[in-house]
This record gives sequence, structure tokens and C-alpha cells, in this order.
Amino acid sequence: MNNKTQGKLNLYKHFHSGVKDRPVFANEGVDPLPLAFNKKVAVHPGLGGTFVEKESIGALWKTLVQKERSGKTAAYFHIPFCETHCLFCGFYSNPLTRDSSKTYVDALVGEIQRDKDLPVVNSSPIHAVYLGGGTPTALEAEDLERLLVCIGQCLPLANDCEITVEGRIHNFSEEKMKACISGGANRFSIGVQTFNTDIRRSLGRVADKATILRSMQTLVRLDQAAIVIDLIYGLPGQSMAIWESDLNTLLGLGLDGVDLYQLNVFKNSALEKAANKGTMQTPPDISQQSHYFAKGVETMIRARYRRLSISHWGRSTRERNLYNLLFKKRSNALAFGACAGGNLDGHFFFLENKLNRYLKTVGRTKPVMAIVHPLENDALVGALTGGLEVGRLDLRQIGQRLGLNLEEFYRPVLEQWERVGLIETDGGWVTLTLAGQFWQVNLTQAMIDYFNVNHPVNGG
Ligand code: SF4
Repeated sequence: MNNKTQGKLNLYKHFHSGVKDRPVFANEGVDPLPLAFNKKVAVHPGLGGTFVEKESIGALWKTLVQKERSGKTAAYFHIPFCETHCLFCGFYSNPLTRDSSKTYVDALVGEIQRDKDLPVVNSSPIHAVYLGGGTPTALEAEDLERLLVCIGQCLPLANDCEITVEGRIHNFSEEKMKACISGGANRFSIGVQTFNTDIRRSLGRVADKATILRSMQTLVRLDQAAIVIDLIYGLPGQSMAIWESDLNTLLGLGLDGVDLYQLNVFKNSALEKAANKGTMQTPPDISQQSHYFAKGVETMIRARYRRLSISHWGRSTRERNLYNLLFKKRSNALAFGACAGGNLDGHFFFLENKLNRYLKTVGRTKPVMAIVHPLENDALVGALTGGLEVGRLDLRQIGQRLGLNLEEFYRPVLEQWERVGLIETDGGWVTLTLAGQFWQVNLTQAMIDYFNVNHPVNGG
């Protein structure tokens, strides 16, 4: 559905290109906000590792699911359908047909019921549930409710478990909203992207601004769940004035939180092709996007929103953004459904991504398609990605926990970044400046790459 849809195999493979083209040190003598680096190096930093041989996947999976799980855990459920294909999206998978909803939820419920007694599933609480896609709200109301009820009955959800349904406004009726709430959902994450009707239509979004506002008012009136939306900056045709108008419209809605995302133009996406052909305006480039980012930060600070991560802001106490923060820390994550991805004991894994094959296989066995070996430095990578995701890092404390002098090890890098205005350091703490926040994925990946190349244990 959006940039926070994580763990997909294609995203993982896309990243698997090695450290070339990923500079550690920033450009000198330039304004760091637009120009510290020439491009963003990743959507999700910290991916990597080698894939387990195909013939070993089955045996390894059996071992992983017999282990008792501990620590904060998420559970992800993938709904691989969309009613239309949005031009900017790299996650579109299958068109929705008349029978899709029932057939798919039958399969998913069967998968959950079969897995529920495994030690890895039932051994400790689950703290965040996320129905992502695709478009979960494209499912029929009764299927949404029975899926959520099944999750609540079969899985050991913590009392304060965050239960999110991701979706879009198109075809998200009040009946569906109520079905989700009745099934146990306590958070809606809605991909709005922009309120501007003309831009929405040019990108293949169906609902107009008035429809979005009406749906938001309905969700607010029901008052049963945190309501969070995504807005994207850097869309084709989105001037700074339109972006400011999007932000001001958001502030008037009284929602619980918002994600402000940068547009990622995926290679070979419909959007890239349309821009290359000239049938769509070229989106603002990276340095222009940095000013949209700054405007978003300034607006949220002025409106007294709480910052929960670099891109995520909460207004009310209802919003915690827990699922996404757990993912960034590389916490354990169970996964269910075609094309879902999770993480067990440091092993990222991916389920069958072809819907037909998933439906054929899941009745017999868990359709695990790929597993990635844990990184040698998984704990460090989790600490770096989790910390920089929220804009600060207690490097001294992380180093003490891992038995490494990280302040000394990273000194050349941190000194340069501080000199050019990307970070501030203070007693072991590293805090990102506004420019550092914009380039956070580069800084995170650079710290990982620098460790991999230069740390003695890692062969540097
Ligand atoms: S609804 Fe649009 S943005 Fe969401 S996953 Fe489908 S194609 Fe992508």
C-alpha cells in the first residue's frame, strides 16, 4: 500500500546490490539539506545477507517454528489485492475479483489456525498486528471481521496490542469500518497520499477530496480507533503550495497521526515510464524534495504534533506507531498470507508471492519461499536502524551492550557528518539535524557499510 509495507522479497532483492554507489562520507562545502548526498541509497536501510539454499529452507523452517519466541513481536498479514493500480506504487499485485475476498480469507484463516499451536507462535505475547497490502479494505466487510476475530482468538495478543488495518478510501464503507472495529481493529492506516483531486486522478486514485474528507469524518465520529493517514511529498504536479494545502487540510481533520513520506520512483514503475514518455510531469528531484520535507517538519512542529519517527507524527495519545518501530528494530515478526514477509530470530523470511501458488500450497504446508541468513552483526544493525529511525542514537550505550567501542570506531565518520551539519554529538549521543533527518536512510546504511568494511572481525 505504501512505503511502510515492508519485508517484501522484491524490495529485498532490489537492495541486494552491494556497497558500491553507497558513499559513507557526505559532500563537503554544500547546503547539506538538499545536497549532502547525490541520491537516497535505500528505502529501508539494513537489508542484506545471503539467501538460504532452496533445499535447506524446509528443514530450517521446522527448526525456527519449534523455538520459543521472546521479546516484543509483530504479526503481519498480507492482503494481495487492489481494485485499481496507482501509478506510483511498487506493491500492486493482483486485481480484485468477485470471489477473491472469501477464497483468500478462507486460506488465510486456515493458515492461522494451523500455525497457532507452534511454539514460535504461542509462546509469548504479540504486541502489534498489521493487515497490510495491497488493500486490506478491499476485502468484504464480513471477511475483514472474521479474519480479525480469528487473529484475536488464535494468537496470543497482548492486552495493549496495536491492531492496524491498512487501506484506502475507495470502497471503504462505514459498514467495513464497523466490521473492522467489531473484529478488534484499534488503528486504521489510510493511504491518502494527497488531497488534491487532480493529482489523485492523474495517479490512478479514485476518491476525490470531498469523499476523503467525508470518510475521515466518519472514522473520527466512530471514535474507536487511532486514525492515521499517509501523505506523500514530491508527487508529479505537486507544487509547494499544493503540499502546504495538503498539510493544512490534514491539520483540520483532528486525526491521531500522520506519515509524511517522500515519493520513491521505483525503477520500471508505471510512474517512471509515464514521466519518461512525457505523459506525466517529472516529479520534483531529490534536492527539491528536501524542501518539501522541511516544510512538513516545520508544519508539524508548529501544530505541536509529537514526533514518533523521522516520518511519523502523532497528535493524540492513541497513536503509537508500534508496528513500524518494531520492524525497524528488527524485532521478531510472524507473517501470514501470500507475499508476506517476517523475521524470526534474525532470519528474514518471505512467503510465496504468487497468489495461485500460495492458494494451492497453503492447505498442505506453510508456503515459505525464501529465508535470509541472519547478519553476523544483526544486533548492531537493529540498534542503528531502530535508533536512527527516531532520529537519535545512544552510541555509547549500544557499544557497551555489544562490547564494542563504537564512539572511537565511528569517530572519522561522525566528525565529518558533524562538520557538514548532518548530526550533533553529545556524550555518546548522536542526534540528527534537519538535514540529517532528510538523509537518515543514507546515514544509517553508511554506518552499517562502514562497520562491515572496516571492523576487524568483519574482514576489513
Ligand atoms: S492501492 Fe494503490 S498504492 Fe495501495 S498497494 Fe494498491 S496499487 Fe499500491
